[in-house]
Amino acid sequence: MAAKFFLLALLALSFSGALASGPSQLQDFCVGDSRGGVIFVNGFACKDPKTAVAEDFFFFCGLHMAGNTSNKQGSAVTAVNVAHIARLNTLGISLARVDYDRYGQNPPHIHPRATEILTVVEGSLYVGFVTSNPENKLFSKALNKGDVFVFPQGLIHFQYNCGTTKAIAIAALSSKNPGVITIANAVFGSKPSILDDIVAKAF
Ligand code: MN
Repeated sequence: MAAKFFLLALLALSFSGALASGPSQLQDFCVGDSRGGVIFVNGFACKDPKTAVAEDFFFFCGLHMAGNTSNKQGSAVTAVNVAHIARLNTLGISLARVDYDRYGQNPPHIHPRATEILTVVEGSLYVGFVTSNPENKLFSKALNKGDVFVFPQGLIHFQYNCGTTKAIAIAALSSKNPGVITIANAVFGSKPSILDDIVAKAF
């Protein structure tokens, strides 16, 4: 009986380990089939791998072009994930370009399903993340062109352009579908609203 329980516990542990990131794929790739494939892997249709061609792995996303930063935050995220490119299905990776006006910011947010590694390709940024409860410790750093910083999965993080010019960053994320929760929008802008008393008491 004890041995059986131990075995079950071990199984549960190994499954939870496997699910800590995107599930491992059992094939080289699952090329999305725009005509509607018959085989679905991780929620997306795959075409017959024998019919895959180089074009299936080429994406024109225009990432050399700046996003539109005329908004209150003074920033723009151009994401390239499985929502834009079905071919990323099962590959556990995605990309984003972020543009920042002078004093623009990518406000505090979370990616529930991905760690992010970001490099500054133009300008300079002040970046940081905060650890979980109870410490809530801030790790922050000023970055210059060519510098790289990592934001661990699920932690609140931000970037702020403190330089004298526009800034550009490229971020890679460890999920085909990292997800984004912008803290202020989620807490103050939910639909319908969280009761004022609850928000006021929390802050
Ligand atoms: Mn991010």
